[in-house]
Amino acid sequence: MLRFDVLTLFPGMFAPVLAHSMLKRGQDKGLLTVKVHNVRDFTADRHKVVDDMPYGGGAGMVMKAEPILLAVAAIRQEAQAVGEDIRLIFPTPQGRRFTQDYAQQLAGERRRIVILCGHYEGVDERVRMTLVPEEVSLGDYVLTGGELPALVLIDAAARLVPGVLGDPSSVVDESFSEPLLEYPQYTRPAEIAGVGVPDVLLSGHHEAIRVWRRKEALRNTYVRRPDLLTGRMLTREDQQLLNELMSEGLLTAPTSCREEE
Ligand code: SAM
Repeated sequence: MLRFDVLTLFPGMFAPVLAHSMLKRGQDKGLLTVKVHNVRDFTADRHKVVDDMPYGGGAGMVMKAEPILLAVAAIRQEAQAVGEDIRLIFPTPQGRRFTQDYAQQLAGERRRIVILCGHYEGVDERVRMTLVPEEVSLGDYVLTGGELPALVLIDAAARLVPGVLGDPSSVVDESFSEPLLEYPQYTRPAEIAGVGVPDVLLSGHHEAIRVWRRKEALRNTYVRRPDLLTGRMLTREDQQLLNELMSEGLLTAPTSCREEE
């Protein structure tokens, strides 16, 4: 079972998302648990203060270290009491980029995954110095808090846990399951505003459909994310499909892909 413990100042942001779709299904099936902790509950003062002005001046408030350190210690203690360990993650724009590989790694995690959501101007640096969390970024932009990143991590990992999705093959074909974007998908009706569906998808010919999808995945990747193909070993089939795309005039020659022996 995949278990997350989230530390946040805004616990109410989680329930609405966790109560729907695959995340709900994962929890209902006992494959996923998400426990949300309010950092404010770990304050020692009467006013439950969780933030303060930055030393040296400047805009905004900084999340205080002590309630976070107490919260992480409490979660660690609770885990250790049942023979478990924790893995601490801090979403921050300064972290390494979150990827499908990282999600896959989280999905197989046996330890409790603790996600610390920063807010305001961020978190007192001594939290990082003391706890040395893994730092993960969703991208080169700044959000108001770590709550949405935490939900992204939970969602991306949970759907990779066997049994959470209805059809396990969904995660095999899709974008990034290998470094390749997915092929285009169509559903009924067969025509919308004069635009039809590629004939091959209506043919019922499984091998022809497989090859078409592979070719379109290569086209999508080449056109939208050529960096994913850079330096990549291509199978003979992939090389042949890329050659076809080029001879159809839909691509210019890739310079950096190599064909497998
Ligand atoms: N002042 C901080 C900085 O420049 O690095 C940004 C603070 S941000 C307003 C508040 C919190 O949102 C961060 O502590 C982090 O937890 C979260 N956050 C914001 N953008 C993020 C991103 N791109 N990826 C992951 N977490 C992010």
